[in-house]
Amino acid sequence: MQFQQIIGQTQLKQELIRAINSDKIAHAQLLQGPAGYGGLPLALAFSQYLFCTARQPEDSCGLCAACLKVQQLQHPDLHFVYPVVQSIGKTSDLFLADWRTQIDEAPYFDLFQWTERIDNKLRKPIIGTEESKDIIRKLSLKGYEGGYKVMIIWQPEEMNTDCANKLLKILEEPPARTLFLLVSEDASKLMITIQSRTQLIRVPKIKTEDLSAYLQQAKSQSRTNADAVAAFADGSVLAAMAYLETSEDQDQQREQFIQLMRVCYKKEVLAMMNWADDISGIGKERQKLFIQYALHMMRQSLLTNYMGDVLTKVSDEEAAFLEKFAPFISGNNIREFISTFDAAYYQIDRNANARILFTQLCFQTMRYIHQA
Ligand SMILES: [Zn+2]
Repeated sequence: MQFQQIIGQTQLKQELIRAINSDKIAHAQLLQGPAGYGGLPLALAFSQYLFCTARQPEDSCGLCAACLKVQQLQHPDLHFVYPVVQSIGKTSDLFLADWRTQIDEAPYFDLFQWTERIDNKLRKPIIGTEESKDIIRKLSLKGYEGGYKVMIIWQPEEMNTDCANKLLKILEEPPARTLFLLVSEDASKLMITIQSRTQLIRVPKIKTEDLSAYLQQAKSQSRTNADAVAAFADGSVLAAMAYLETSEDQDQQREQFIQLMRVCYKKEVLAMMNWADDISGIGKERQKLFIQYALHMMRQSLLTNYMGDVLTKVSDEEAAFLEKFAPFISGNNIREFISTFDAAYYQIDRNANARILFTQLCFQTMRYIHQA
């Protein structure tokens, strides 16, 4: 993978390139951020740049033998560790074919997508004790190509304690020219002893304009739609893809939101009860998406009020609605709106009674709308 294939992350890419060119490479680095921000693709591009024999100032060449081997995940000095389902196989090597296919088809993916690929029973994958032996064995061998040996550990937080303990020594004092790249979604779940032996690199959100440009080019989205989805996805390409895949849901959420605001504005109590009935039957995950959507629309309404339509990131249909609705969201009620919907999200997650919860939400919304 080359840096140019990575969505956004301009600044971090430059920092990684600078580290290699100035030969200041910490031997154990921990890239941290949600999978949709691109930690793994960055680790792959970083490795390719490191191995490339015809480096350009901005990127690997993509053509030399080393680049080709990294691209096919066949470079003998590039090793991978990832969580695997122990009852199928105990070490990453046994899943290498799946790993190559996954990265070839979709280099941005999360642990759930990986689990779906390797086990139709969706059993929880971990990095187990056997893996630590493989890691130590592989790194004790001399590098094939005489340069660096790179060990990419994806989702190290899924490592069991035994494996983590066995790696402490080699993380502390690795053989010469060894580079550990740990790619984590949540470093706080790692043992402190592992965290303290690595240099933390925070992978930031993908900028909205970069994500929108990607959706327009790679996913053939219109500018308006790409901007709307990118704003909603909040820096994660995986969130953006999930959103596009559920575009039917998107229409449904929009309708539900418009309906809620309409009946609450008119104070139609019977219609409010019907609305709460309907939404309490759509299931917890859809309810959570709805709440997220509602929060997004409220923030956009506030922006519409204060900045005209300059900054708002919504689709055409949404823009038409916001024009009428925005005046009802203001400094007088936005805090109440957001804290009420945030609280509802939290309660849905904890299996609150949906009908009661959404009925209350209706009445609160009615009150807030009329205090704008
Ligand atoms: Zn190259």
